[in-house]
Amino acid sequence: MTTTANTERPEKSEREFHPRILVVEDEAIVACHFQQRLTRMGYTVTGLAYDSEQAVQKASETNPELILMDINLGHGLNGIETAMLIRKQQDLPIIYITANSDTDTVRRAARSGPFGYILKPFEDRELETAIHLGVAKHKMELRLKESERRFNATLTSVADGLIATDPDGRIEFFNDSAEIITGWTHADVLGRKLSDVFLLKDDGTHGPSTNVFSPFLPGVLPGDSRTVLLARRDGTTIPIEYRAAHIHDERQYSKGVVISFSDITGRRHAEEKIHTAQQQLTEAHQHLQHKHEELQSFYHTVSHEVKTPLTSAREFVSLVMEGLAGPVTDTQKEYLSIAQESCDQMHTCINDMLDVTRLETGKMNIEFRTSSLADLTRRIVTRQMSAAERKGVHLNCTIKPGVGDILMDETRIAQVIGNLLNNALKFTSEGGLVSVVVEPLATLADHVRITVSDTGCGIHKKHLARIFDRLYQVRDGDASSRMGLGLGLYICHELVRLHNGSICVESVIGQGSTFYVTLPVSPKKSFLPMGHANELVAHLAA
Ligand code: ADP
Repeated sequence: MTTTANTERPEKSEREFHPRILVVEDEAIVACHFQQRLTRMGYTVTGLAYDSEQAVQKASETNPELILMDINLGHGLNGIETAMLIRKQQDLPIIYITANSDTDTVRRAARSGPFGYILKPFEDRELETAIHLGVAKHKMELRLKESERRFNATLTSVADGLIATDPDGRIEFFNDSAEIITGWTHADVLGRKLSDVFLLKDDGTHGPSTNVFSPFLPGVLPGDSRTVLLARRDGTTIPIEYRAAHIHDERQYSKGVVISFSDITGRRHAEEKIHTAQQQLTEAHQHLQHKHEELQSFYHTVSHEVKTPLTSAREFVSLVMEGLAGPVTDTQKEYLSIAQESCDQMHTCINDMLDVTRLETGKMNIEFRTSSLADLTRRIVTRQMSAAERKGVHLNCTIKPGVGDILMDETRIAQVIGNLLNNALKFTSEGGLVSVVVEPLATLADHVRITVSDTGCGIHKKHLARIFDRLYQVRDGDASSRMGLGLGLYICHELVRLHNGSICVESVIGQGSTFYVTLPVSPKKSFLPMGHANELVAHLAA
């Protein structure tokens, strides 16, 4: 049977407690003896070094995982000095072996950061234990270094400036952002007093900030952020926001202070800009408001001034038409009736403008009185009957049972119904049908509904959401849609709102439109919830 020596290095876990060892011992016989003992104990000895020079060389050439180092190496550097030299180049656990246990040797060895210390003569078990502990300690040290490195890298790269001090307020840590914000370099400030570098001024008075080092004072809440001015190294001043906290040890003793801070110059500029913009906006708003009021008062005056001569012009046209100023031919009558219609149109426009001014200045007076909605509706429909007949449009009115008197401003509700009816007749062609229905509202107690529907041209759904807006007109219809000012439905909406009611519309292009006005029987008591109009449409559609 042939056995082959396994030259491959075993997996780390298998040889966890069997590191490859370099022995440094000036006495060759003792070194040899160590080698034999270690081999017997299952360790691999990478080499024997008899002095400091050989130790440094073999440590780098033979790739050991641990060094057993005799402190007394005869001539040249001693074991402690050699260990320190090797540790500068290689991170290896080094265990000292010595026959001396005097205090001075122990102290010197301790200062060099050893991973173990064995006194000659020693048992195999003692050696094994020292090796195991040395390896474990080294692993812990590596892990600690790694976590320290990660921690440092994180703190160094954070966007906020970070400064940490020792208990005397001397700077121990100064990250990259702190360098950029303060203008000081890490190398310049390490070991210097924080108060020499981190010079703060009060944000308001620009005097020295009194509570800057308050983290050193008792009773200050940690994490409290403050805004101050920081004097940079070059003498310029920038606004910063900072937080400070004590670094406590496990017994809650302060081991220093950590300060995090950020340059808020950009934020300040943005805030100033926003502030200026807000001021400008307020001024512009006031200016516009003023202009708006001026315009409204101008409208009001002009409308009144125009209304009086317009009324007398219409009156005189009527007089002439009726023959009171002498005989009138048919052609003259036809022309005069066109003039009369134009006067009526202008009258409607002026009244709409006056109403809008009243609505927007809160001067629209609503005088509530209990009256019959049914009678009012019938009167309005009757008044329009001849106009409908002239156009060849069927007009009918239905008052359903249960519609009683309601509390309303009759003139204003008449205006709403009249406006809707006018529009319906305007947009319905010959042979079409316009109906007005008044009924108690089934879905909401103490409410009535007026429905004005037509079989006219309809309104495209893209306009429906804005149809009640002030000055909104549908531009894609025929010329009749351009005759008004786009105020009629807006006024209807506002008047209905002043009655605590709601108005909405459904329309299908080419098939007609239906306007629904919902009014409470007693507007002062009831309140139609927002969105009810939409519910109503949904209900009706269903
Ligand atoms: P105006 O005061 O100019 O008559 P309105 O506010 O009464 O305007 O109406 C706004 C727009 O709504 C009008 O331009 C018209 O095109 C459209 N509209 C209103 N009622 C109807 C209707 N019954 N059928 C079709 N379009 C209508």
